[in-house]
Amino acid sequence: MNSEWEAVIGLEIHTQLATKSKIFSGAATAYGAEPNTQACAVDLGLPGVLPVLNGDAVRKAVTFGLAIDAEIAPQSVFARKNYFYPDLPKGYQISQFELPIVGKGHLDIDVDGVGKRVGITRAHLEEDAGKSLHEDFHGLTGIDLNRAGTPLLEIVSEPDMRSAREAVVYMRKLHELVRYLGICDGNMQEGSFRCDANVSVRPKGRQEYGTRAEIKNINSFRFVEKAINFEIERQIDILEAGGKIVQETRLYDADKDETRSMRSKEEANDYRYFPDPDLLPVLIEESLKAEIRASLPELPAAKKQRFIGQYGLDGENADTLTSSRELADFYEAVVSASGVEARLCTNWVTGDVLGALNKAGLEIGQCPVSSTRLAGLLQRIADNTISGKIAKQVFDKMWSSEASADDIIQREGLVQISDSGAIEAVIDAIIAANPGQVEQYRSGKDKVFGFFVGQAMKATQGKANPAEVNKMLVEKLGQPSGAE
Ligand code: ADP
Ligand code: MG
Repeated sequence: MNSEWEAVIGLEIHTQLATKSKIFSGAATAYGAEPNTQACAVDLGLPGVLPVLNGDAVRKAVTFGLAIDAEIAPQSVFARKNYFYPDLPKGYQISQFELPIVGKGHLDIDVDGVGKRVGITRAHLEEDAGKSLHEDFHGLTGIDLNRAGTPLLEIVSEPDMRSAREAVVYMRKLHELVRYLGICDGNMQEGSFRCDANVSVRPKGRQEYGTRAEIKNINSFRFVEKAINFEIERQIDILEAGGKIVQETRLYDADKDETRSMRSKEEANDYRYFPDPDLLPVLIEESLKAEIRASLPELPAAKKQRFIGQYGLDGENADTLTSSRELADFYEAVVSASGVEARLCTNWVTGDVLGALNKAGLEIGQCPVSSTRLAGLLQRIADNTISGKIAKQVFDKMWSSEASADDIIQREGLVQISDSGAIEAVIDAIIAANPGQVEQYRSGKDKVFGFFVGQAMKATQGKANPAEVNKMLVEKLGQPSGAE
């Protein structure tokens, strides 16, 4: 970005609350059902129906509010937001306007080592609309109303972010939090976590905000970053050419990596909000808040600090291991089941396990090697039965079978050779067979040491204890001179 300009970004994030039924009806919310099999008369707003508020959606909203230190409104009100769109046949969306359930709160983020607090203006409950389907209808549009009435919590941030990177870090942190809390499954492909990004720019040092554009419905972290960066550049170009930004709603086109105007921005009064006459105000009592507060899980920030203290982790590994509750639980299960030093567990979980999951496109919950089986492997490394290198082979075999580490080590004869007599015999043979290299090493070419280690490992199919090999080689060949 041109350094004379500063970007200002605020995000509106729609999180789908993981309730079994809709926010105002008993229809199911499960994803992927046949179109129009999960929308009932209430979701369609047919004449004469009456919505009934889902208590679980309220609890989940309150859970979120408490987790971000927000004020929970003792009384909040549902309002009708009136607009026409094919995926909203009833002509209005039930949302909250003047009195949202969650008031001002905040989320602390860490951007490349620098801490920052992002304000959250509010979070309100609302129902989702249906979905337009543009494929398979030969130039026409199909409407699937299964999603109509699905509970959403719309989380609105203050315009506190100053770069696309900050916005994405905030979004990831929020994604992590709602999954920790168990209020949203976070599945972005299925639309459970969607972002509208509001972007403006202003000359550096100016207090007032510039005119913003809102980029709608971006459904991946990567696209949010790209869309915002594109938008920042677009606005700077216009302003530098003497133009004006118009307040509007834009769409991000991932194929072209650009944003396009969709419609001019509507004002709140265009929607003719009014309190829904069919729904009573929502009253949240202190006792409910206290009960929910008591049942909150350990939150990511607290867990991270505990991991640093309890397992001696650095900040980066602590971040990785607490990035989801499932991963943190897996790690702690490995530490406690193995009884080996935490550092070994950390290296394996952040390295081999996450690497293999990533390669296979799996989540920790789908890891083929359970925490118990991994613990069994780490015990054999810790007690020197196998080397770290052989352990990687054993791990690969565990990945594709149900066998325990001990079974594989036995079956494949992988037990490490630590017996100094056996290692000495191997090394003597290598020294005898390679007089040229011995000469080089003794004349100061330290690098040749690695050659001998390699030969010893090769001769033992990698089973020689590396520490023993090193020790024996130094004994036989002398200390490396340090000269080149
Ligand atoms: P609306 O309801 O019309 O979308 P809001 O005032 O509720 O508008 O703001 C929506 C989002 O836009 C919030 O996340 C807010 O932080 C952000 N926002 C408001 N003004 C600006 C601005 N000038 N530049 C960037 N973001 C902004
Ligand atoms: Mg908006």
